[in-house]
Amino acid sequence: MEYCLFCKIATGAIPGNIVYQDENVVAFVDINPQAPKHILLIPRRHIASMTDLTLDDGPILAQLFTTAQKLAHEMSIDESGYRFVSNVGPDSGQSVFHLHFHLLGGRKFSWPPG
Ligand code: AMP
Ligand code: ZN
Repeated sequence: MEYCLFCKIATGAIPGNIVYQDENVVAFVDINPQAPKHILLIPRRHIASMTDLTLDDGPILAQLFTTAQKLAHEMSIDESGYRFVSNVGPDSGQSVFHLHFHLLGGRKFSWPPG
């Protein structure tokens, strides 16, 4: 079932610049990149945000993290470093309510974040 924009990218119903996909995980280029490398990683299954995760979601989270790790290596940002972040709810600026992690790299990031 297609619940939202990212569900539609995952099924191919709307186009996305997909860089990796398997039966559980899809990764695609962010349409409004905030760094030279900016990939979004999502579970194929619709989960609105981190707020809805349970312990049973452990395996999909491990797959999202290890996929990001591999993509970071392929994009040659694993040694320079990168940021892997998920926005949750209004104060974070979350704008798409399908769980996603931003993988950002290719420049220096400040801390604390804005
Ligand atoms: P967030 O603000 O954390 O919810 O992140 C949502 C991200 O989705 C933003 O960085 C947007 O640039 C990105 N985005 C929105 N629409 C698309 C799209 N059609 N394809 C790729 N990325 C998108
Ligand atoms: Zn969705």
